[in-house]
Amino acid sequence: MPGQDRLAILEVVADEVRGCPKCELARGRTHAVPGEGNPNARIMFIGEAPGHHEDQQGKPFVGNSGQFLTTLIEKAGLKREDVFITNIVKCRPPSNRDPLPDEIDICTSNYLERQIEAIDPEVIVTLGRFSMSRYFPGERISKIHGQAKMVGGRLIVPMYHPAAALHQGNLRSTLEDDFGKLPRMLAEQDKRRESEAEKKRSATQGTLF
Ligand code: URA
Ligand code: SF4
Repeated sequence: MPGQDRLAILEVVADEVRGCPKCELARGRTHAVPGEGNPNARIMFIGEAPGHHEDQQGKPFVGNSGQFLTTLIEKAGLKREDVFITNIVKCRPPSNRDPLPDEIDICTSNYLERQIEAIDPEVIVTLGRFSMSRYFPGERISKIHGQAKMVGGRLIVPMYHPAAALHQGNLRSTLEDDFGKLPRMLAEQDKRRESEAEKKRSATQGTLF
């Protein structure tokens, strides 16, 4: 899909999110937080829900855990502007409680799924257990963090939530190590794409002679 079309879809979704009345979380929010980043991102990060600062600014991951996320992204040789960052639910739950299953269902089916389809990222990094459960129901983050798996033609990489490392210092280096694997994962995706293109080329040649 051309970048302009992606951008147009993302803007429509963001506008709908900003005025969304579809679940209980609409009532307590200051600003809904649709997400932000590059419409052509190869990597998309999916967190949990906006917190206080995100709710104030309408932007994802701008508080303490957001600063740490930016550091992790940069340590992996990427820039925040190159990736796309969003959450499983777009409005802050009251007192930062966990989002409820029906809030997650309503929000993801209306918005996150369309964002994923428009961006069509090669890699999705889930941050924390709510976005992890979307792809790996019943799994434990302590067991599968940092391990990439192909799900529906996309590489899904479950990671700890950056906030977890702010509470539990020993998780900081775990997160740094897991983020450090991202460049190699992208390089492997490049190789996979090249070898598929090569296969296609030789198949076409085969039909010529
Ligand atoms: N935590 C999240 O999961 N998302 C944010 O946007 C901020 C903090
Ligand atoms: Fe709408 Fe999602 Fe906000 Fe609920 S959390 S009001 S579904 S944007």
